[in-house]
Amino acid sequence: MIRITSLGGSGEDSRNCFLIESDEANILLDCGVRREIADTATVYPALSREIAEKLNAVVISHGHEDHTAALPYLYELGYRGKIYASLKTIEVIPGYLRKWIRYVRDHEGTLPFDEENVEKLEYETIENYPFPIEYGRSGHMIGSLWYLFTLEGHRILYTGDLTYDGMVLKADKLPLMDTLIIDSAYASRSLSQYNQYLNLLNVARDTVSDGGMVLLPVPANGRGIDLFLYLSLRDLPVFAEENIVRNTEDLKNHLYWLRDPEIQPGEYYLINNENRQAILEEGIPGVYLFADGMMTSAISPLYFNAVKDSEKNIILITGHTARGTMANDLLSVLYRDENNISCRVAPLTIKVHPDEEDVETIIGFVKPHNVILFHSRREKAQELKKKLEEKGLRVICGPEEPLII
Ligand SMILES: [Zn+2]
Ligand SMILES: [Zn+2]
Repeated sequence: MIRITSLGGSGEDSRNCFLIESDEANILLDCGVRREIADTATVYPALSREIAEKLNAVVISHGHEDHTAALPYLYELGYRGKIYASLKTIEVIPGYLRKWIRYVRDHEGTLPFDEENVEKLEYETIENYPFPIEYGRSGHMIGSLWYLFTLEGHRILYTGDLTYDGMVLKADKLPLMDTLIIDSAYASRSLSQYNQYLNLLNVARDTVSDGGMVLLPVPANGRGIDLFLYLSLRDLPVFAEENIVRNTEDLKNHLYWLRDPEIQPGEYYLINNENRQAILEEGIPGVYLFADGMMTSAISPLYFNAVKDSEKNIILITGHTARGTMANDLLSVLYRDENNISCRVAPLTIKVHPDEEDVETIIGFVKPHNVILFHSRREKAQELKKKLEEKGLRVICGPEEPLII
């Protein structure tokens, strides 16, 4: 018998963590947090000592905090085994863990683990995983993988975060399986990546020709690189922070993960610690990319102050924002009114996950009997769940009910 339990992530939009129990092995898939300051039960997956002690392996899809930052907590609960992932993911996890710890400290939260645990975690590349497994690139970030586990003759696929719509990264086709645990972060939405890019370009061109500045707070990787490459190849003045530019240059060392190994940025101005202040004070019309998607780091106030007093300027929020972060606050009209913020702020999602149609299309191709939807809140996934059930699938969206096969 196989039992799959969502310890976080299904029926909600973060702290992704799934437990697969079987006669052959007990495996934990991802171990992430909800990026908020709240009690342990809200922020961390529903792990326990009992679970930590019976695990044979932990497998990580990619580095983001909502998939990794609870690993030191798992160690605190007694897990001493290996953590398997791609080499690239293993390289970036410690940085994401430290970023999470810093965030909690800066907001006077408490950590349910010893910080030193970060150094004690033991990683192993997925090539050395000791049970039957297949995997492929998931297109979400460099190093991100989907996994196919075969347990008791049953094929279980975990997508991790998945997209086939990235400009830069390649995603491999999924194989057939019996049970699919699928990223449905944009359930209830229909997004055309092509149109989203076009909208972005139009807003950027209009703003710049009106003499305004366009702020794009983005991650230093993934969507940040996609947007940097896209915009720098258009006829627009683009200012980009050094870390985004370096990560883009670094793509040449990761050709395996790319769609097009030849891709190169166009023209841009480099921003670094030396010139940032001066450039922002000048207020030159253009698009400004800086690596801080939720605007929580020390450089964000500099950018924000440069644009906030004129409605000619716009801040475009292209990804998920957690409650309590500046990017999230700024999306509220009330917050902007109360704080006398004149610049415009708009959400403009660039896809790094599948939308509702994508999930249906994928399911049509890979023909599972059982589906666990994750990475989207229960109310957002209801319609999708109903549609899939009407097709005769067993669908789970929420933590209460484990899937027993
Ligand atoms: Zn992710
Ligand atoms: Zn995620």
